[in-house]
Amino acid sequence: MSNRQANTEASKREADSKPESSDFIREIISKDLQQGMDEGKIVTRFPPEPNGYLHIGHAKSICLNFGISEENTGAVCHLRFDDTNPAKEETEYVDSIKEDVKWLGFEFGEKEFYASDYFDRLHEYAVQLIRDGKAFVCDLTKAEIAEYRGTPTVPGKNSPNRERSVEENLTLFDKMKNGEFADGEKTLRAKIDMSSPNMHMRDPAIYRIRKTLHHRTGDKWVIYPMYDFTHCLSDAIEGITHSLCTLEFEVHRPLYDWVLDHLSTPSRPRQIEFARLNLSYTALSKRKLLQLVENGDVSGWNDPRMPTLSGLRRRGYTPESIRKFCTQIGVTKFNSVTDLARLEHSLREDLNKSAHRVMAVLKPVKLILTNYPEDQVEEMEAVNNPEDPDAGTRLLPFSRELFIERDDFMEDPPKKFFRLAPGREVRLRYGYIIQCNAVVKNPDTGEIEELHCTYDPETKSGSGKPTRKVKGTIHWVSVQHSIPAEVRLYDRLFTKENPTDEKDGTVFTEHLNSDSLAILSKCRIEPSMKGALPGARFQFERIGYFCVDSIDSTPDQLVINRTVTLRDAWAKRKR
Ligand code: ATP
Ligand code: MG
Repeated sequence: MSNRQANTEASKREADSKPESSDFIREIISKDLQQGMDEGKIVTRFPPEPNGYLHIGHAKSICLNFGISEENTGAVCHLRFDDTNPAKEETEYVDSIKEDVKWLGFEFGEKEFYASDYFDRLHEYAVQLIRDGKAFVCDLTKAEIAEYRGTPTVPGKNSPNRERSVEENLTLFDKMKNGEFADGEKTLRAKIDMSSPNMHMRDPAIYRIRKTLHHRTGDKWVIYPMYDFTHCLSDAIEGITHSLCTLEFEVHRPLYDWVLDHLSTPSRPRQIEFARLNLSYTALSKRKLLQLVENGDVSGWNDPRMPTLSGLRRRGYTPESIRKFCTQIGVTKFNSVTDLARLEHSLREDLNKSAHRVMAVLKPVKLILTNYPEDQVEEMEAVNNPEDPDAGTRLLPFSRELFIERDDFMEDPPKKFFRLAPGREVRLRYGYIIQCNAVVKNPDTGEIEELHCTYDPETKSGSGKPTRKVKGTIHWVSVQHSIPAEVRLYDRLFTKENPTDEKDGTVFTEHLNSDSLAILSKCRIEPSMKGALPGARFQFERIGYFCVDSIDSTPDQLVINRTVTLRDAWAKRKR
């Protein structure tokens, strides 16, 4: 990255990190600070379960938690892996999560924690609850527990083991820990209230047996603490002041508080819930995204059509555009669906400012300027970025044989088609006005093979001479100078607005968009793109924003992803 780029990035970053508007959580925090709570030290955390890659929904939570820590002097945000389920968690996910948080632009530094590091302490807390008569070992099977639990309208029944003595519970819990029982044979349950209207308070399990290797603790443990027990205690151990989570945890809050109220912990965090991000035409659930990966519906977690941060990154999204989007959607208590177009809008705004313009022809047809000297090559001066005067210009080689976009020519055009057609004139961007005189077709297929045109030497753009005006301008590349590339055009992954709402009896995979990927293998790009680095972003003039694929592109065979079209093609289609 050039210095200049680095500087603009830095100033953009500064502007972005200032909250444009406050929200109810930031208001709570500033009130707490005013009242001198927590000695002015705010600690938040982002607590992913390492069972999948992060997605754009997680970005909302990351921007909120890390954003608050950036905005308040002395505040910190912890990255905590909520790794209590050994069956589903993997180191690959841990690594990808760390990479994604950093890519978004947030620092966790040494504040990287693992719930599994607290297993010993959590075990001690569980023993304490047993000693205090607040937890018991239960022999009921999973099915029996469900049956005893009742329903929201029917109170549950006490477990027959509820009144076990403290001594017996301690012995049994120890045996659980020592692997003397099989998976599912016993659980440790909190003794709360089987008739509570809140189902989560009906003697919830806090420890279960799982004879599975853990990605960090190996075979040390065969009992694992449940989420509701782990989360609040991890927060308390780390001194989290504001534990921000999504609305579905609102019903868990009484249990969060119950655990902390019944144990003596180093601090007393507070849980606050906000609405999760839902995006139209998108599935945002790791379970569902994993299904797409496992089914081969996409090429992996980082498929550029995936809403994962690694997919969006590979697609060409900038971290700035995602942070801006998260700021713009704000934080509320009400669930809603955000239009995917808002994310794309934020991306276009950012790329319009930063992306260099490039000439590329995706579906080429050859155009021959019959009156242009055979061996002549001119260099046309092209502006790198009209939005950025410092971005400078480059020279585009221009010659007798060019490629233009097949769609920019019509043999029998309707009235409002201002591009090339037999007998019509058009301007070649940064070049001359040309006129089409003849169309050469393949005698067998009838396909157009060449367009024969003449150029008007008096009309060179940028020459300072007054020139005629024509209605259309089209892009082009020189046949002999341009380089080949494969271009992958991506579109929405789903055709249904809310694909994961399966109430209508359909399954989300039924709504996959069969046109979400189109591969164009005969594209031609201006020579300045030679050696373009993986991840480089640019605008193909008149077409859209693109980037060099970070996985499949090689110096010999460029593979380019369409990040987003110039305009919202779907909005037009709706009209
Ligand atoms: P998923 O539903 O995708 O499986 P999750 O909530 O199980 O997500 P976690 O790894 O537990 O995933 O999430 C880490 C944090 O990110 C949690 O605090 C969670 O509330 C938050 N989060 C997850 N999805 C969203 C979303 N769509 N919008 C905002 N925050 C989210
Ligand atoms: Mg979860």
